This record gives sequence, structure tokens and C-alpha cells, in this order.
Amino acid sequence: MGEAVSIVTVFPDLLGTYGDGGNAKVLAARLKLRGIAVTELEVRSSDPLPQGADIYLVGGGEDSPQVEASKILGKSRALHRAVEAGSYVLAVCAGLQIFGEYFVDAEGNEVPGLGILDCRSVKMPGARAVGELLVRAELNGGEELLVGYENHGSSTHLGPDARPFSKVVAGIGNSRTAKADGVRYKNVIATYMHGPVLARNSELADFILRGVFGDLPTIPDRSLSRLARQLHQERVGAAMKSHKGNLRNRVASGLKGW
Ligand code: GLN
Repeated sequence: MGEAVSIVTVFPDLLGTYGDGGNAKVLAARLKLRGIAVTELEVRSSDPLPQGADIYLVGGGEDSPQVEASKILGKSRALHRAVEAGSYVLAVCAGLQIFGEYFVDAEGNEVPGLGILDCRSVKMPGARAVGELLVRAELNGGEELLVGYENHGSSTHLGPDARPFSKVVAGIGNSRTAKADGVRYKNVIATYMHGPVLARNSELADFILRGVFGDLPTIPDRSLSRLARQLHQERVGAAMKSHKGNLRNRVASGLKGW
């Protein structure tokens, strides 16, 4: 799509709960601050998705808009082509579920997803998963602590061809038993973390940007990078506080690394 890094927000009229639209703004801002040109596109569900963009962002959604989005994307296969062509995709919550083989609607009926990821989402036994989600993900050859907010009524079960995006430190993620969050496949990162996740975790934002652009120059305004890090630390602190009792048990059972 030309010289500028192109970022497409997929169907903001259907998908984008809990501020997921902010992910595009974070990516664009982190490029512009470095003097890198950006093309930002918000494509509504009535319009065709452009091909060949560098990054596609698919947000979370309520049950019915999620079904609608999956139908349209299943027919057009625009995201299938994007993934095969090596575009980066960040898919959050309903976005993650849509990328799988199937998910359930509000009545509990199975709805076909795009089948890009080897996972299936079904109604989660017990209460909805709501709250802070703290995970460890392998990025840039090392483990990063990432933090988000989850709110979903389904759990996601991975098949043998799917690799989880991260290990859950606290919170639920894919299911109450998996201790993992999301799926990673080719250049697709799918996660249950809202936040928006890229505002809370600038390391993840830069991981995606590095994948597209290569080596990234440092952001010249250090105070802005500091603010982003402060927000990350504050949210990690809040997540640890909200899961205090549970974390104590997990530390006792040998949790290492932070
Ligand atoms: N509707 C889905 C669920 O409840 C996704 C929710 C979301 O995207 N926040 O599981």
C-alpha cells in the first residue's frame, strides 16, 4: 500500500468495545512520533476491506454484532488473504473468537468463524470472565509482562495447530483451566486483553511495528515514552492488587520471572 505504514481498523461500527479503537491511535502515534508516515483507515462493515494493508485491527464486540462481522468477513475472505500475505493482525476478544473455527451466539448456537486459527469458543461454565488480565508473552526473544482488561462469556479452546499468545499470571484468559491467553499464528496476535491493550503495553505496540517496519528509531520525546511506561506499571500494579489472594497462591506454587 505505498510508503506509509497502513493501519486498518476493521468494522468499528460492529467491533471495538472497551476502547479497542484506541489500538490504531497508539500505533499511529508511535509511528508519527518517530517521523514515520502512517495511513489510518477505519472501514465500516458496509464497505470492502482494502487489501495489502500492513496492520489490521479487529476489536471486541457484543454477541450480535460479532455474528454480523463474522458473516461479512467469512464471505469476503479479506482477512484470510491478509493473513496469508503476511499482514499483521491484532484481534481482541470477539476478534479472537471470530478468527477461530466457531464461537457461540447469545442463544448458545454455534456460529462459523473464519477458521484462520485452530481454536473454538464455547459458552464458559460459571460466571463471565471479567477483570484485570496479567500475562507473560514472548516478544523480541524475551518474556514481557503484559496487562489488559477482560470481559467475555465464552472460553476458547485451542487445537494442536494453535500456539497460545501468552501464559496467564492472573485472570482467566482463554479458559479457567488453560492458564493461557490468546493465540499466535503467522503475524496474527489474538488476545482477550482490552485496555486498549496497546496503550497499556507499548512493548506490544512496538513489537508489531518492528515486524512491519524493521528497526524502529527511539521516540525523541522521552517524557512520552516515560508516560507510556508509567501507565503500564500502574496497570500491572492494579492487576496484581485485584488478584492479590490468587497471586499469593501462585507465587507459593513456584511462579517465577517477575
Ligand atoms: N461476545 C463475546 C463474549 O462474551 C466477546 C466479548 C468481547 O468482545 N468483549 O465472549
